[in-house]
Amino acid sequence: MTASDHSAYRPEYCTPIYDMAVAQFEKAAAVIDLDPNVWQRFVAPKRALMVSVPIRMEDGAIRVFSGYRVHHDNTLGPSKGGVRYHPDVNLGEVCALAMWMTWKCALVGLPFGGAKGGIRCDPHAMSRLELQRLTRRYTAEILPILGPDIDVPAPDMGTNEQTMAWMMDTYSQFKGYAVPGVVTGKPIAIGGSQGRNEATGRGVVYTVLEAMRHLGMRPEGARAAIQGFGNVGSNTAKALAEAGCTVIAISDVNGGVVNDRGLDVADAISYVERHGSLDGYSGGEALTNTELLELPCDVLVPAALSAQITKANAERLRCRIVAEGANGPTLLEADPILQSRGIFVIPDILANAGGVTVSYFEWVQGLQHLFWKEREVYERLREIMTTAFAQVLATAQAKHVDMRMAALMIGIEKIAKAKLARGVFP
Ligand code: NAD
Repeated sequence: MTASDHSAYRPEYCTPIYDMAVAQFEKAAAVIDLDPNVWQRFVAPKRALMVSVPIRMEDGAIRVFSGYRVHHDNTLGPSKGGVRYHPDVNLGEVCALAMWMTWKCALVGLPFGGAKGGIRCDPHAMSRLELQRLTRRYTAEILPILGPDIDVPAPDMGTNEQTMAWMMDTYSQFKGYAVPGVVTGKPIAIGGSQGRNEATGRGVVYTVLEAMRHLGMRPEGARAAIQGFGNVGSNTAKALAEAGCTVIAISDVNGGVVNDRGLDVADAISYVERHGSLDGYSGGEALTNTELLELPCDVLVPAALSAQITKANAERLRCRIVAEGANGPTLLEADPILQSRGIFVIPDILANAGGVTVSYFEWVQGLQHLFWKEREVYERLREIMTTAFAQVLATAQAKHVDMRMAALMIGIEKIAKAKLARGVFP
């Protein structure tokens, strides 16, 4: 099989981002000569639930939001993936993100399948009470496919540990007892793990340090630009600064700041905590998100939305390493351009796997009722991330493919092996 039957029948989830996830999958599947039956199965989600989420707003009016929860795979254990609150959320995006979660979990060796969820909403335009109602009703609507052995959500764009606490509480109210294992990324007070909040950013940096070692670069004084200053972006900035790098530019939805001498990352984080965004931050000169991507620097970290590095701007990037904190930030057609220009790409399913890895630690700690110290969490995380990096690099070199292809090949091959061992029911 080369091009799948996928193109003959186009269900509603076949949006451009889903097509991109499928194209990546099919490219890697062809190289590893994937079993055609497994191919057919993985080209679509295992199950996808669309829900209407009605809530009463602060002004008394009822508004109905569209919500989704998608399981791409559950061969090795419960499916795992974040919940996104963003105005652009749609079924295709959630299906693509769920598929990437499958490869990511397999790549770093976690006993999880891939899932994702989301609600089409603007969380920044909603009050805390409205967000709580939205989260609780969404949780109630997806209850039939949720559970610590079924599907375990975590935070993603627009959601955080408070969202997870409301989800955990809602699920537990239905059960009649506390079920902390139903979500990860929850507050430490209800069974969260040390280091989960910082995990994705730290993981990004562990892979950046490995890439630098491979490329003969030194972290001290290396210049970094980061797009997105939420959970992933700010924690990446913090960990890069701790490693000796100079963070010269950061941005969020409204634009960002650049300072050639380096930004004070702790100060910027504290500003965002106080003001809700980087708007008005005076640590450097203002710049747009487009300008940030094209700054001369050593490390560029897209840590916001997908589809940021395109055919149009790939020629203009002036960095040595792209570390994909975000999911799907590089379009398919941009990959060969980056490769031909000698830019080393650490693909999303590798670079940002730290989040789901510490989610796994949280789930394991919860099952054992035994909690680890922060140092232990980071040591284990570093080991998993550096091992995965080494495996991907070795495959890329041995098979003469780029890092994205190598990461996909490893992830898909691992999960395909498990799928074939289980066989087809009935
Ligand atoms: P977040 O909501 O905490 O932060 C998102 C940031 O992106 C904010 O600073 C926001 O202002 C900014 N942003 C939004 N739209 C933007 C735009 N158009 N241009 C520039 N910036 C914009 O989200 P997060 O959890 O940090 O997630 C960021 C990315 O990382 C997403 O792609 C997500 O899927 C991925 N990711 C997150 C985790 C995690 O553990 N949170 C794990 C793996 C991957």
